[in-house]
Amino acid sequence: MSERPEVGELTPPDRTLMGPGPSNVHPRVLRAMSTPLVGHLDPYFLEIMDEVKELLRYAFRTENEWTFPVSGTGTAAMEAAVGNLVEPGDTMLVPGNGYFGGRMAAIAERAGGDVVQVDAPWGEPLDRVDVAAAFDEHQPDVFGFVHAETSTGVLQPDVSELTSIAHDHDALVVADCVTSLGTAELRVDDWDVDVAYSGSQKGLSCPPGASPVTLNDRAVDKVQSRPEPPRSWYLDLSLLEDYWGEESAYHHTAPVTSVYALREGLRLVAEEGIEARWDRHREVAGELKAGVESMGLEMNAADEYWLPALNAVRVPDAVDADTVINRLLDEYDVEIAGGLGDLAGDVWRIGCMGYSANRRNVTYLLAALEAVLDDEGYDVRETSTAAN
Ligand SMILES: *Cc1c(COP(=O)(O)O)cnc(C)c1O
Repeated sequence: MSERPEVGELTPPDRTLMGPGPSNVHPRVLRAMSTPLVGHLDPYFLEIMDEVKELLRYAFRTENEWTFPVSGTGTAAMEAAVGNLVEPGDTMLVPGNGYFGGRMAAIAERAGGDVVQVDAPWGEPLDRVDVAAAFDEHQPDVFGFVHAETSTGVLQPDVSELTSIAHDHDALVVADCVTSLGTAELRVDDWDVDVAYSGSQKGLSCPPGASPVTLNDRAVDKVQSRPEPPRSWYLDLSLLEDYWGEESAYHHTAPVTSVYALREGLRLVAEEGIEARWDRHREVAGELKAGVESMGLEMNAADEYWLPALNAVRVPDAVDADTVINRLLDEYDVEIAGGLGDLAGDVWRIGCMGYSANRRNVTYLLAALEAVLDDEGYDVRETSTAAN
């Protein structure tokens, strides 16, 4: 038999989370999480669920009936969206300009779909001309794209043009909004996005665990007219709607505390106002961007596609990306991240999202980065305003 373990009290370090997520959890969210549990079918909880749906519709800018969180992280929401929309034999068009398009492709394949790709370099958005050409060539049934590509720091522009190309070809559109919900302009209804999904631990500053999805009528029709149910029972959106909708039918035990957290995170969005929140991200992350540029560093994405919530900064030659990341964590308790996939070793990914998107964090991060770079022998430009 193993011995009785002696494990110490939980004392996590107090990090400033400026990576690609999670972001720092808002204190009000932490407080909401320490309130008493109720049953997942308790009349009180059913009210909470309705409020969460209403708050989510506000954040997504949608009237969609089917709007609720799935239990799990952003990837669970991605799997729910793709796995319910893509039927065996369907063709799905996915983006090749970042890490998360690859994950969409892997999920679509497991759903029995045939995957085709529309490409752009990592660090650029999809070009509508290329998307239109891919539609003409492949006639996909479903088109997925990543609105805010956290691996490259690119915000996809012209979303309504992409959705109209898809709809002209009778295809449905799935948008990955994991990093854009609550950080960047996103208008699900105006832009005619059929399915959008997100996560809780990025722009909403909640812990990971309950991840929003929303489907319009066109998408609901496709889901409901499938001859074969989706392969995942747990993430079957029709069954989940039976729980989150009028019927309140037991499906699985909702992660009650995660739903409390999401409710509080979304309440903060509504209090701030969604447009004001988008503005705050541009403003605060704008100071971050100006600060790194004044040190002579370059952004990975062009200004037109800059994603305020995730600033991908090119690592200068002669500096080791990981050394800087590790020193920021060890010496300053600041978390930033390195590059993924094609950009591994080439960029730092500096998040500025949700509760973490504030001037104090940006000032502190710039000062810490400047000090570490200086110490690593990088010639921080004289013009630097980082520590001001
Ligand atoms: C973080 C992220 C995901 C995955 O979310 P998890 O919560 O890590 O499962 C998917 N897409 C994008 C764009 C992301 O940034």
